[in-house]
Amino acid sequence: MRFPLALSAKIAGHIVKHKLKRTPKFAMVLQLEPLHTCNLTCTGCGRIREYSTSLKDMMSLEDCLASAQECDAPMVSICGGEPLIYPKIEECIDGILKQGRIVYVCTNGMFMRKKMKDYLASIYNAELEPTLTKLVEEKLISEKDVETIRKGKNDGRPTIRPSKWMYWNVHVDGLEYTHDLIVEREGVFKECVEAIKMAKILGYQVATNTTVYKETEVKEIEQMFEFFSSLEVDGHTISPGYDYDAAKKDMVKRLGKQPEDFFLTRAMTRAKFKDIQKWGERFTIFGTPVYQEFLAGKRELTCTAWAIPTRNIRGWKAPCYLMTDGHYPSYQEMLREVKWEKYGVHDGVARDHRCENCMVHCGYDPSGALGTNYQRGDNWKNFRYNFGAKPKPYYEGRNVNAFNGVSIGKGHLAEAKAAINSPRAAMNGAQSVFQRREEPHDHKEGGSCGSGDTAQRDELLSKIAANKKAE
Ligand code: SF4
Ligand code: SF4
Repeated sequence: MRFPLALSAKIAGHIVKHKLKRTPKFAMVLQLEPLHTCNLTCTGCGRIREYSTSLKDMMSLEDCLASAQECDAPMVSICGGEPLIYPKIEECIDGILKQGRIVYVCTNGMFMRKKMKDYLASIYNAELEPTLTKLVEEKLISEKDVETIRKGKNDGRPTIRPSKWMYWNVHVDGLEYTHDLIVEREGVFKECVEAIKMAKILGYQVATNTTVYKETEVKEIEQMFEFFSSLEVDGHTISPGYDYDAAKKDMVKRLGKQPEDFFLTRAMTRAKFKDIQKWGERFTIFGTPVYQEFLAGKRELTCTAWAIPTRNIRGWKAPCYLMTDGHYPSYQEMLREVKWEKYGVHDGVARDHRCENCMVHCGYDPSGALGTNYQRGDNWKNFRYNFGAKPKPYYEGRNVNAFNGVSIGKGHLAEAKAAINSPRAAMNGAQSVFQRREEPHDHKEGGSCGSGDTAQRDELLSKIAANKKAE
């Protein structure tokens, strides 16, 4: 089966229960953001800029668990910020799993191996030795790590254990060069790959989470799927990037450029995703076939952002993961108070101009599952996709030239820094969009992993391109 039976059955049961009760609006996936602090500063990340936060500003564990209970979504995507920085992430995952929900841990991958080593220490006994030897041979842990693991871990805290109810959801936006460029740090792609390899050896379920931007080459996305399929990754989330209206205006005003020069419009998204259904046959793409048809431009859907609510330190964020018109103290209050009919694109007409180019999964994927724009045969399509055979790993993907960046001496940082430090770039203020910080940091300004706010990254890339042309 494409997805584990218990998981598909749980989600299907949730939909059927609410359909029978005629619940008008209900949650399918909770996007839980316990904190907005991150150890990276991806140029395309709006989340770390929208919320002024520090490590002090985080949801309490009780709030996290109560939020999942309140909206009762069968799936909880723990994101941020970087959720593995959250001091009680283990208790949070453990608590949500105990509520009987499916958990996705959306991570940039940098702390995954540390968390898995904690797990190994917590279960250490002599029978683990062959696994440790294998991990050392594969250079995924060191001899020193083994010594620490052998000491065990008995602090009474839970660890993040492999479970059929949990996925690591690793943020990867391309192969090495592209991904490291987008996250603005060399070596991140390599760390993600090593973490994924270790996770698979230990029996975790792993998915990748990719946002497609205007510059994203479709060919590279396919190669990325091929590569990760060869590592036996269990699935892929993919969504088009989203551009805030304010960022478009800023482009026009400050740079005198037309938005379509930078941003993924609906027409561009459809062109990029025209082969998504073929990808869905070759790879385990998460998301309904109806949503895939929507992305490929074969049908329209109505936004159902209320089905993937976001809960963060300020409350329930409305109307969606991407746009903030308010925060509410409870999910039910948000459902009641928000004028949902003001948002989304209906029959090709944007009800809110900020929604004009949005086709993101958090607005439209649930529409496919909930039958919001039902067409004859949709239920069968969804059923066949979910319960059909899982695509086999594509082992030829090992031949993909995945390490095409810093691993072969082609790091992007020198190139980007040279570009933005040139007199021409300085005139355009490029330095301000390329401030790189190394450690978990406080965020002062407006998505998170995969949120798709591309304004700053687009600006950086366009300036690098402009600089190249000028040379
Ligand atoms: S269309 Fe997109 S931006 Fe608009 S409310 Fe829906 S998810 Fe949010
Ligand atoms: S996109 Fe994810 S990894 Fe990157 S800065 Fe934002 S929260 Fe951190």
